[in-house]
Order: sequence, then structure tokens, then C-alpha cells
Amino acid sequence: MVCGMNAIIISIGSELTFGQTVDTNSAWLSLRLAEVGVRVIAHVTVSDELEPIRREIARACELADVVLISGGLGPTEDDLTRQALATAMGVELRLRPEFLGEIRDFFTRRNREMPESNRIQAMFPAGSEPIHNTCGTAPGIRASVGKATVFVMPGVPREMKVMYELDVLPHLRAATGQGVMLARTILTFGAGESDVGDKIRDLMQRGRNPAVGTTAQQLIIGIRIHAHGETREAARSLLDETAADVRSRLGTLVFGEDRDTLWSAVVSVLIEKGKTVSTAESCTGGLIAKSLTDVAGSSACFIDGVVTYSNSAKTRLLGVPAEMIARHGAVSRPVAEAMAVNCRRLSGSDYAISVTGIAGPTGGTPDKPVGLVYIGLADPSGCEVTEHRIGDFLTRDEIRDRTRKIALNRLRLKLSSQ
Ligand code: ATP
Ligand code: MG
Repeated sequence: MVCGMNAIIISIGSELTFGQTVDTNSAWLSLRLAEVGVRVIAHVTVSDELEPIRREIARACELADVVLISGGLGPTEDDLTRQALATAMGVELRLRPEFLGEIRDFFTRRNREMPESNRIQAMFPAGSEPIHNTCGTAPGIRASVGKATVFVMPGVPREMKVMYELDVLPHLRAATGQGVMLARTILTFGAGESDVGDKIRDLMQRGRNPAVGTTAQQLIIGIRIHAHGETREAARSLLDETAADVRSRLGTLVFGEDRDTLWSAVVSVLIEKGKTVSTAESCTGGLIAKSLTDVAGSSACFIDGVVTYSNSAKTRLLGVPAEMIARHGAVSRPVAEAMAVNCRRLSGSDYAISVTGIAGPTGGTPDKPVGLVYIGLADPSGCEVTEHRIGDFLTRDEIRDRTRKIALNRLRLKLSSQ
């Protein structure tokens, strides 16, 4: 690591240690800390108990330069983070009247009276700095414990994120001082991790700046780039250079960056080219239409989608001949083709995607195993159907997820070739 700051992230809440809530705060914070070159050495999850929280804060402050804590700032009996921090600091909690006013105002604006229990949220360990909460009641806390700086944020992910951006991040930026770390992930679809790795092997050498590595998640291979520079501009220019190199080596495998999805990529190309799409889905049950319409602005390119799950629906809504289904089966090349072609004609879209397959875990036969999927893509020049054997070792969810990705990637490639 080029920069020297280490961090420990502590998540507080018995709902987390019980397993009722998954700790997404730590993962989010880790990704954000990497962007400013702060290395996370541990994630710690603690139940709502005073002594365990105190112990983990004290231990983290001996090991790390920065300790980021979320949760346990609420007004109820089981919210003990402020008391635990005060104990770890060896100080008392003190009332800060100006924060009491702020919390009262929060309730007044909602036409409610502040419950007496919220008073505790205006109490802070002596010597600590309160942090304003712009979207909830619980102010955060910044404190020095030994050599470490501690930030306490609310557990509610939305409030935690806002407080991180507005208060924690500027402090970290000022403290890291020794240059800037920037990160970007180039996203690809259509090749395995080792094939992608082979094309960029030399960029992945240890100790290189920018550092390059791959991550794989449900068929999407990400190429993560971390660039360090003395200034933001220097880091950005190194990052841009390596990113351009990676993109040119991987060509059309690349569909986007960072938070892009295959569906957001497809929607932007459709809009850019002024084209429209419709969907006719069987085994994905509307997942492709849902994914496309998850993207803001998709109304400019998405016309409609039908879920023709039963054989009769395929005939009634899409005009797939009943005898065709009887002869070839619903999961077949001709049915996928008829679904796509008729969907395109009925909707008046430029493109239509059809999907028919066996998502399992039951319903497979030796001839047509679980994971067999036909994907049709109709365009003005005709229709092409591809056959996929996605794998009977996968869960129903995974088969459906992969089917939508393969289908939307086919449309993406088609659009980029036209
Ligand atoms: P606050 O300080 O704002 O009162 P809190 O942790 O005391 O936060 P909780 O009621 O425990 O308040 O949590 C608020 C919500 O945030 C709950 O839905 C909880 O499951 C969620 N939450 C808390 N911590 C995390 C976390 N680390 N990751 C994801 N969700 C979390
Ligand atoms: Mg809590």
C-alpha cells in the first residue's frame, strides 16, 4: 500500500450478530475507504452490550489510525455506543444544549413532540466533537482515542452514507495528505476470469502503480484499478491511462464501469441510437423487463414486456402456434423464435428479446436438462436464436439471473455492431 493509513470498521447491533440484518455498512465503507487509499485491516461486528463495545473500540484504537463505527446511536436502552465510547476514552457524557435544540427541531418540523428518551442523543463524551445529522435525529461523534481518530455514525445505511460523505471523507482526505488514491472498476461480460486475466497479465504484476486485479461475480468480471498519485490530477491521469489500456485489450467484452449494470449499458445504447425494445419472457418471469425498467429513463426505449409462462399464454398473447409447442416443446428453438418475432411485430419495437428455458430445480429431462435456455433476438433483419446450457448445478435464481445477463448482453453486442 502506498499510503500509510489503516482503518478498522466496527458495526454495532444485535440484529447484525443475530444474523437478522446483513451488515452492508462495512462493505460500503471499505469500498469508499479504498478510494482514498485507506487500508481496512478488520471488520468487527458487536452486539448491543456495553463492555463488548468498549473493548472492541479500545482494541481497534490501538491497532488502527482510523476507527469507523456505525450503529447504536439511537435513543433506546440498547443503543450504547456513546456510553461505550465515553468509557473507552475514560470520560463522562456531557449534554450539548445546541444539539438538544436541533433534535427538538427535527420533531417539531414533523409536528411531533420530542420523546424524553431522545435527550440522550444530545449527550457526547467530553472532549469529542458532535457531527450534525442532516437526515435523521442522531448526531454522529468524532473523537480522539490514543493515536486513533474515531468516527461514530448512525446505523441506518442512508444516514451513515450521508454523514460519511459530508463529514468523515473530508477529514480523511485532509489526514491522508500523502497523495491521493483513486479507484475504478472496468466491467466485462462474456469471458471467464482466467481469459480476462490472460489479456492483462502484465498489468497485474505486484507493486505496479496503478495496481490492477480482477474480481468475478455471477459471470461479470471486473477489472479493478487503483492509482496513486501525488495529486488528484496525477492519480486521475494514471488511472485514465491504465483504464484505456484495459478497455482496448478487452474490446467489446467491456460493458461499463463502477456502478453500471448490463441493463443500464443496454438502455444507454438504445437511447443513444434511438432504438426500442420489447421482451417476451417465459422462464425469467419478467426479470428482463424488470431489469431494463430499473434504469431511470428506460421509458425512452422500453416499449413493453409480456410474461408468457404457460403454453396457452404463448399462443394467446404472442400467437405462437399451439401445434408448434406440441411438436417441439415450449423450450425449443422454434418457440423462442416465434416468441421474439411476434413480440417485435405486436409491439412495434426495433428489437425483441425472447426467453424460454428450464430454470429448475425440477422439470429437467435427459434431453432437456435444467439450465437449458433458448434466447431469441429479433431485429429488422430477422431473428437469431441461441441455445445455452447454463448448468444444472446452479440454483433457480442463478439460472434466471444468468439468462437475463446473457440475453441483454446479446442485445448489447448486436447494438454495438449495427
Ligand atoms: P441510529 O444510530 O441511527 O439509531 P442504530 O443502529 O441505533 O442507528 P438501529 O435501529 O439499530 O439504529 O438500526 C437502524 C436500521 O439500520 C435498522 O434497520 C438496522 O437493521 C440498520 N442497520 C444498522 N446497522 C447496519 C449495518 N451495519 N448494515 C446494514 N444495516 C444496518
Ligand atoms: Mg442498533
